[in-house]
Formats: sequence, C-alpha cells, structure tokens
Amino acid sequence: MKCTRCREPAEIHLRAHNSAFCRECFVFFFRRRVQKAVERTGMFEGCSRILVAVSGGKDSLALWDVLAEAGHTTVGYHLALGIGSYSDHSLETTRRFASERGFELHVDSLAEEGLAVPDMMRATRRPACAACGTAKRHHFDTAALHLGCDAIATGHNLDDEAARLLGNVLHWQMDHLARQRPIMQPTHEKFVRKVKPLYLTSELETATYAFMRGIDYVVDECPNAVGATQLTYKAMLDRLESASPGTKLSFVRDFLERGVDAFAAREGGSAGTSCQQCGMPSYGLLCSFCSLREAVARKAASAAATSAGTARAHDS
Ligand code: SF4
Repeated sequence: MKCTRCREPAEIHLRAHNSAFCRECFVFFFRRRVQKAVERTGMFEGCSRILVAVSGGKDSLALWDVLAEAGHTTVGYHLALGIGSYSDHSLETTRRFASERGFELHVDSLAEEGLAVPDMMRATRRPACAACGTAKRHHFDTAALHLGCDAIATGHNLDDEAARLLGNVLHWQMDHLARQRPIMQPTHEKFVRKVKPLYLTSELETATYAFMRGIDYVVDECPNAVGATQLTYKAMLDRLESASPGTKLSFVRDFLERGVDAFAAREGGSAGTSCQQCGMPSYGLLCSFCSLREAVARKAASAAATSAGTARAHDS
C-alpha cells in the first residue's frame, strides 16, 4: 500500500479516513488534524499559556508534543494519584518525557497530601474513579490559577468522547450532554477554559503518533479501570467502527454540529460562593474536594480513636 500523500510505501492504513500514510506524512496529517480542530473551534483564542494535564499515557504526551511543536507556550501538570506502581511509573515516564525535551513540568502528589486515591476510596466508600475525578478537577483548576495559565488542555481522544456520548445518550444524561463539548468555558473568574484538542483524533491515531515520534508512554491502564462501563462502551463502538469505518467520528462530530445545542438550556450555572477551606469556587461551604478531604480526615481520626481504645483495653 502506498502513502496517499507522497506515494512512498505506507506504514499505517486509516480506514476511517480511507487513507494510508508513511511515517513522515502521518505525523504531518496528525498535527494538521489537531491544528484544524483547534482553529475551527477557536480553542486557544486569547490564550498565552496552556496547562497540559499529563498522565504519562499516550494521549496526554502526544498532545503536549503536538502543542509544543505548534509553538504554543505550554506548562505540563502531573497529579500523582498514589495508585501503587502504576502511579510511580506514570510519574517517572512523565518526568523523563519533560526533561528530555526541556519542557516545564509541575507535579503534585495526592499521597503527600494524605489523599491517595485508595485512601479516599476507603474513607468515603465512593468508587475510586469518582474520588479521583474530584481530585483531578480541583488540582487542575488550582494549578492553572497558580501557574498563570488561561486554558487547561486534556488528552481526551475521539474514542473517549464517543464512549462518553454513548453513555450519556443511553442514560439520557441531559446535563452531561449539554456539557459534552471540546471547549468548556469558565463559569467563574477563578476557573479557566477547559479544552480537548484531540477530540476528533482516534486512539489508534494517537498511539501511532506517539510511536512514530518515539514517545515512551505508560501502556498499562490504571488498575481501577478494570470493569469500567466506559470500556464496555468502547468495545461496542470498536465493533461498530470495524463494520463501518468512520462511525465514531461521525457520531461525535455530528452530535456537536447538530445535537449539542438542543441541550444548551441544561448547562449548569456558576458556583455561587467560595470554599471556606481552599477559596476555590463552591456550591456550598466546602467545595467537593475539601469535603472529600474532611471525610478522609474524619475516618483517620475515628480509626486512631479506635486503635487507642483497643490499646488501652489491652494494657488494663
Ligand atoms: Fe482515576 Fe484510575 Fe479511575 Fe482513571 S481509572 S479516573 S486514573 S482511578
């Protein structure tokens, strides 16, 4: 098979685009697709410094590479989640990627705050991903504010967006459908816009870009992702894509062009007050992350009281 662009031997065949590319032309194609998505949506209009949320996986590292190569001023931000060796490996990979390229990287650690994801999960009895999502949102927002960034870019790709859209449609999550956009405008002066520049590039394309650019990324999934409903949706969409290439792309793109505005009235309002602990926008006295932090502290205090009581009983 020959490269659609230069007629040299192709290394990758993209059925969704009815095209094949050699290495050099694929890198060109991928960057141009991301750039077009950025330009069409005005994603970075008025932005001078972009915080890239980097997990160490292929999507976020490929995104950082593309944005930096396109000349944007970027700052990497990694939140270490405290999920055993998976988190250690993710941090190490992210640090290596940044230092090899001389990129600015900031790191926060949930474990150092006493809030590793497994601890939050035990203390609150909430699913790991719910606690993790709350911690990520809080830290990304806070980091963008403190580092003087005017946008937060995440590596959500087409497969993520298609699976999320399918889940939202299956359960008619009207509020979530209203917010399923590649740009989320800030709802408070302490927030910045959140953007997803890879929303129209597939997981296959991102993985191929990372491979062809020699990016070393974490291949393993987070252990908490096992059994996640989103993976079931992804598997179903993969079957549809295999039978009818381009399905995921048209599902997401057509929703954004023809469907999302129908849900606009469901978009939530802004947070009305400030969290008493951290000062970030909040709907109540405490923001959801500080509420989580309180729950973990209460659990730790009660465990300490129980163990002190047991020790006293043992001594007497
Ligand atoms: Fe966090 Fe892992 Fe869940 Fe992803 S799968 S949200 S990294 S706990």
